[in-house]
Amino acid sequence: MSKLRSVKGMNDVLPEDAARWHRLESTFRELVGRYGFGEVRTPLVEPTDLFVRSIGEATDIVEKEMYTFEDKGEKSLTLRPEGTASAARAWIQHSVGGKHPVSKWFYLGPMYRRERPAKGRYRQFWQAGCEIYGDPGPYVDAELIDFVVRYLRALGIQDIEVLVNSLGAGGTRDRYRDALLEYLRPHASELSEDSQRRLERNPLRVLDSKAPQDQAIAENAPDILDHLDEESREHFETLKSALDDLGTPYRVEPRLVRGLDYYTRTLFEVRGRGGDLGANAALCGGGRYDNMIAELGGPATPAIGFAIGLDRLLLVMAETEPKPTLDGFLVVQAKELRGKALAIAQTLRDAGARVDADLRGGSMKSQFRRADKSSAPFALILGEREAAEGTVQVKELATGEQRELPIDQVAAAIIRD
Ligand code: ATP
Ligand code: MG
Repeated sequence: MSKLRSVKGMNDVLPEDAARWHRLESTFRELVGRYGFGEVRTPLVEPTDLFVRSIGEATDIVEKEMYTFEDKGEKSLTLRPEGTASAARAWIQHSVGGKHPVSKWFYLGPMYRRERPAKGRYRQFWQAGCEIYGDPGPYVDAELIDFVVRYLRALGIQDIEVLVNSLGAGGTRDRYRDALLEYLRPHASELSEDSQRRLERNPLRVLDSKAPQDQAIAENAPDILDHLDEESREHFETLKSALDDLGTPYRVEPRLVRGLDYYTRTLFEVRGRGGDLGANAALCGGGRYDNMIAELGGPATPAIGFAIGLDRLLLVMAETEPKPTLDGFLVVQAKELRGKALAIAQTLRDAGARVDADLRGGSMKSQFRRADKSSAPFALILGEREAAEGTVQVKELATGEQRELPIDQVAAAIIRD
């Protein structure tokens, strides 16, 4: 029989690696809490239409990366490739806009894209993201960009670059599209296959292409910032001065368009410059999507959001000191005391201590071996006499120092914060 393995590009996290994941997640949860974001949890599976309509047909995600299947021949479903569309669907479905003029949501969970697996690029990967509905910006745009920088700093990730751009609103896209097409058409035959195919339908995609021949041509493309409508220009200027006031570093990058169709006005990306991932890896992408809610059938509502790729943060953040996962490990002198040991472990756990025991009935030596491996700083030794007197020997494994304590004093003696 062939060996069973996880699906290509989908990874396990084993307990010894979980601490770093917890740090990513708890730091994020702690920080969003300070800004008043509430958590939304949506299904991993959505009607395929949701992503086609919001992300856009001529995009990498919808053209090639979605895990789409027929639900017993009834309906086309897709594993979510990102979080924004699902959150917007939920926001509309539950008429949240009628109850709250502005809502601030966050999510954290796995996303699915059928990409070619590589370092920092997986088929199941984790995103943490925020969405704000009902505030047209630009101050909230600056606040969100600043949030991402603060989150990364809290994880010790300093070596980053923040890129910002504006895609404008109203007529900007059409005007720019025309100017871009005019520039690109003479180069059509030099473009990659994907870009040639998308050229007429969605020329902006060419700017986002990773193919070197496309990037060379994109280099000299007309500048979208020269085509902004007046209001978007003001929006962008205010955004930049708000970022300056916050002391958030950024660089204006007029070629930044990003791979989803739904963006309007503010667009940003945060790239990491060091670590295992190499230079210029995208850690976070975000932007404003003022038309999407209405296009999905909801009330016209401005919105902005971002998504951070947690798997990539793991590759650039500093090592986390492994912390002991246990406070004490019970060692019993005789097999018959195992029931008693179990009860003591339970008492200690009720008092808040993290305690394990070796209940297989092995020798003291083998129990101590497990205690040593367990990361618990203390062994809790239970013999006949201790059992009769309601005590245990508390032995600090690093120093060998040992003292006898009544059970009700043990938890306080071994819990470390
Ligand atoms: P890339 O250009 O690297 O393909 P993207 O533009 O497709 O990224 P977004 O859709 O904006 O990425 O998603 C936001 C973040 O999610 C990215 O900046 C990245 O950190 C992370 N991400 C996206 N795709 C993957 C993946 N396949 N594996 C791991 N992380 C990913
Ligand atoms: Mg991608």
